[in-house]
Amino acid sequence: MKRRVINLSNGTQSSCGIANCNDSIKRSVSRKKVDLVPELEVRGNGKKIGLCQSCYRIFKKATKKDRTLESLGR
Ligand SMILES: [Zn+2]
Repeated sequence: MKRRVINLSNGTQSSCGIANCNDSIKRSVSRKKVDLVPELEVRGNGKKIGLCQSCYRIFKKATKKDRTLESLGR
């Protein structure tokens, strides 16, 4: 009988790539895009950043063009 040890912390990270967040990854996006979002502080240095659901929502919100809403408030 062979016994296989499955090491979860083997190479690829499976938790969110944002600092202070450890949720599991739902989507992965390009690092360049995440760098444009001040609310999301990327940790690590991969080209792809895994985002959990809540971080991805922040990301989507921030990258959506919502400038028109801001200018309407003036
Ligand atoms: Zn997250």
